Amino acid sequence: MIIRYIKVKSALSKSNLKELDYSLNPYLGCTYACTYCYAPNFTPNKEASENWGKVIVVKENILEILRREVKVVKKGVVGVSTITDPYQPIEAIKKLTKESLRVLLESSFRVSIQTKSPLILRDLDLLEKYKSKVDVGFTITSLDNYSELEPYAPPPKARIKAIRKISERGIESWIFIGPIIRGYNDYEIEKIIEEISDIKVRVIYDSFHYYKGLKYKEGTSDWWIKIKEKITNLCKKYNLECHEEREDWVYEKKKLFKTF
Ligand code: SF4
Repeated sequence: MIIRYIKVKSALSKSNLKELDYSLNPYLGCTYACTYCYAPNFTPNKEASENWGKVIVVKENILEILRREVKVVKKGVVGVSTITDPYQPIEAIKKLTKESLRVLLESSFRVSIQTKSPLILRDLDLLEKYKSKVDVGFTITSLDNYSELEPYAPPPKARIKAIRKISERGIESWIFIGPIIRGYNDYEIEKIIEEISDIKVRVIYDSFHYYKGLKYKEGTSDWWIKIKEKITNLCKKYNLECHEEREDWVYEKKKLFKTF
């Protein structure tokens, strides 16, 4: 693992995602090296994007810059993170995610966190203190095939255990089932939903989208219609709130953040 340090001029980036106003990525590159990851295509550091999983770039002055920015930019919803996992192993040492969250929450920003790492539990007290301004999502892509899809990420069972704890503290919680890849994890949907069915979470799901350099193919529209039907029926069976990422979640998130 190669670790690089850079100084940045800004901490918050305007987000292209409709449900977020800003994104914050304390690191570039991600040691989890998921085989479906499209983040290298959006990572503004050549060494990290071309050596995905092997190079981590630490934005060493991000807190100093963020403290200045929160005083001048319009308040909004910040996605933490969008092109890296905010709780990958280096965070245990650097704590840039934790301290960035503290700055944002103390300054009345809202945060939407997505991770695959139980390291987030370290920050549970902080998240609970500001729970009206926080939502946390864990990605569960596969229970059986994760060693191929997510070879270096924490095991899915550990993620489920973590989101259970977060949800039990009354923090808005969600599970992202995705990307759903035809022939690789689509056969596991029932098992995943069954596994999380007793946790108070929303279920968000999405299919795989092809980006340059990825080895998987997008499924057909007929396949996706069947998958959606299956997920909808399972959610009804287990009384879970389900949303397809590209449609409903944007709206639902805006409702969540309606107090802005
Ligand atoms: S955890 Fe997310 S950012 Fe990291 S490699 Fe996997 S998909 Fe990419």
